[in-house]
Amino acid sequence: MMHDWSPDELEEAAALAGTTPCFLYDEALLREQVRRVHEFPAPYGLAPRYAMKACPTRAILGILREAGFGIDASSGYEVERAVRAGFPPSAISLSSQEFPADFAEWVRRGLRVNACSLRQLDRYGEAFPGSSVGLRFNPGVGSGGTAKTNVGGPSSSFGIWHEKVPEVRELLARHALTVERIHTHIGSGSDPRVWQKVAHLNLHLVAAFPEVHTLNLGGGYKIARTGEETATDLLRIGEPVAAALREFARETGRELRLEIEPGTFLVGNAGTLLARVHDIVDTGDDGYRFLKLDAGMTEILRPSLYAAQHPIRLVPRAGGRPGELRPLVVVGHCCESGDLLTPAPDDPEALAPRLLPEPEPGDWCLLGGAGAYSASMSAKNYNSFPEAAELLYTTDSRWRLIRRRQTLDEMLAAEVVS
Ligand SMILES: *Cc1c(COP(=O)(O)O)cnc(C)c1O
Repeated sequence: MMHDWSPDELEEAAALAGTTPCFLYDEALLREQVRRVHEFPAPYGLAPRYAMKACPTRAILGILREAGFGIDASSGYEVERAVRAGFPPSAISLSSQEFPADFAEWVRRGLRVNACSLRQLDRYGEAFPGSSVGLRFNPGVGSGGTAKTNVGGPSSSFGIWHEKVPEVRELLARHALTVERIHTHIGSGSDPRVWQKVAHLNLHLVAAFPEVHTLNLGGGYKIARTGEETATDLLRIGEPVAAALREFARETGRELRLEIEPGTFLVGNAGTLLARVHDIVDTGDDGYRFLKLDAGMTEILRPSLYAAQHPIRLVPRAGGRPGELRPLVVVGHCCESGDLLTPAPDDPEALAPRLLPEPEPGDWCLLGGAGAYSASMSAKNYNSFPEAAELLYTTDSRWRLIRRRQTLDEMLAAEVVS
């Protein structure tokens, strides 16, 4: 799955970045996923949105904008970032935990909003009485991979709880609002039966609001980072959704447009973190052998946070040979025992050595599946390490710097020295 770059190509990438670590995004893989998303079956029209929090770098946003995607934004800052990257506000949908103070200004410029709580709905209605709005519901079930990625059900604060339709109606009446869109995002994974259930729960909500013309099912389409994981087949999970939409149209005469908002599915496997092995230490005969990188939680937090499993490939420098296979624990460069890149799959604190060819210090270490929630969701500047550079490996097999490495001056620029 990871691109098979040669030691020379890696050398070239690191030279362009100035130094390791850096992120490498494979444009061809990204475009392949774009094509798959466009194939999602939708009998009455599909509007794909990119959940930009997965990887909001401008060059990535540009590729998705050209491919006809809109944006799912999670904050007012993301809205502004997408606009600066060339998206018109009308192509952006905001579903946020923290309603931006200036939301009304953006709505006047075309932003679409999903009210994600009763209070958000009230504020929207006060600002725009007599208009229409989207609603994000928590349909009462979720299916994220871990408690931290589960975004539906009673232990999730996202969206309006599905039993609160009467309270919603009261607010709609108070502000003369109509509902144009129903949105849920529960991290539904790769099982078509779960998607069928999600579609039915959503259509139940749509039935309660006669003006709704768009159903938004959010994101959460899983990818396979390692051989043990199952990737989502969008055609397979889309089928029961499309069937439910057709049935709804037959029964009610309402032909709903479908929106989906993938993040991980688009960029997850397109990104690789390139690091160098800095040191190798061990803790004796009954201990472990540790491989220390020049990267870690400052670039990728997912292993420490979710016990996420990322493929690791060690590549000797040009002219070097791969070493003997040994169980190795891979750790990051932060002074923090949680900075662990090979946790056990069910416990972010447990060390799970991997059988890897023992490298020499200076060899390359590639961490795959690092395109989504990696550069965008790291322990930035911890231990005062600067943010890593990002490179695009273009479809004509060239490296392009799309974000240069942060400097120490930039890190300190906001400090007030009196
Ligand atoms: C994060 C998010 C997504 C994307 O989730 P993925 O798991 O990356 O596909 C889509 N919609 C909303 C509302 C989100 O918050």
